[in-house]
Amino acid sequence: MKPFVHEVRSTRVVFGSGTISQVRAEVERVGGNRVLLLASKRLDDVAQRVGESLGPLLAARFDGAAMHTPVEVTEHALGVLRSNSADCVVAIGGGSTTGLSKALAARTNVPQVIVPTTYSGSEVTAVLGETAEGRKTTRSAPEIRPETVVYDVDLTLSLPVDLSVTSAVNALAHAVEALYSPQSEPVTDSIALDAVARISRGLRALAADPSDVDTRADLLIGAWLAGTCLGSVGMSLHHKICHTLGGSFGLPHAETHTVVLPHVMAYNAKAVPEVMERIAGALGVPDAPAGVFDLVESVGGPTSLRQLDFPREDLPLAVELSTSRVYQNPREVTGEGVAALLSDAWHGKRPA
Ligand code: NAD
Repeated sequence: MKPFVHEVRSTRVVFGSGTISQVRAEVERVGGNRVLLLASKRLDDVAQRVGESLGPLLAARFDGAAMHTPVEVTEHALGVLRSNSADCVVAIGGGSTTGLSKALAARTNVPQVIVPTTYSGSEVTAVLGETAEGRKTTRSAPEIRPETVVYDVDLTLSLPVDLSVTSAVNALAHAVEALYSPQSEPVTDSIALDAVARISRGLRALAADPSDVDTRADLLIGAWLAGTCLGSVGMSLHHKICHTLGGSFGLPHAETHTVVLPHVMAYNAKAVPEVMERIAGALGVPDAPAGVFDLVESVGGPTSLRQLDFPREDLPLAVELSTSRVYQNPREVTGEGVAALLSDAWHGKRPA
């Protein structure tokens, strides 16, 4: 028997098709009168529609969010928020836009309404990762957790397949690491297994029809569930390695998760064979690490760090940075072990 602590942490979630029409009502619900809209050129069409529906509540728009939440961008956006006396943030976009919103909330306590367009899951966590001077640091605080999330499945129908694949595997990683987290408990376990099943089903169906609403709903619900796990229990080696590769070497977030996940699973499988069996069951494959590798390959996702242009000569520094501090992981983290893992990930070797 494993003892556990379960705590309910709440974010209001509105899910459906066409739900962006409810953003204004959600802003009013959190007491917003002057909205700073965070968006991007790529999602200009949606941002225009939300901006129009906000009408006089729209105070300003800022389009500059960047991957890994650089503090210089946050300072710039903070200036826009303050000079426009904004008292609420609406963020439309992926984890980068959500990250900027959270960075603003961490500094000003403004309420946030997030409209996610990828599967990052960041919208339901109180975690903020920021990058300053080439180092990514992570912190957690109640004011960072967004008050409301409006999931509109329609916004994901046009998410390009390559982005959909890597973003969905990023979500899968949250569910996988939750299942072997020391803080795991029955509620997060069942949420995580449902997430694994939905994400793998969604990924297999994606190529046949990327704009199928049920497939996209599976992926978006899976991402939400996996994000809920990420926000409830601590992550382990996989997240440490990905944060190092992203924060210190500038590798793209979701792609890095996609390459690294099967290798960390293979590393940890010896320590938690029963967890890997449950994951394999949810995936519908005989072996979880090889099953994730095969799934990624079958849907055209990246399988090696080499493909992401990671220089082989930087591997020793990546090992050093990812093992410089002690953190939780089901199997002891050793320099030798991580070096072998990253070498396999660099070559794109299928876990045995
Ligand atoms: P992202 O937000 O940078 O989006 C990736 C790309 O997809 C961008 O070019 C964006 O313009 C584009 N895009 C987004 N939605 C689109 C759509 N519907 N159609 C077409 N293009 C679209 O990347 P991401 O993977 O969503 O998020 C990564 C960031 O989120 C990283 O900084 C990561 O650290 C952070 N993150 C944080 C947490 C947390 O809990 N703190 C969790 C997961 C990710």
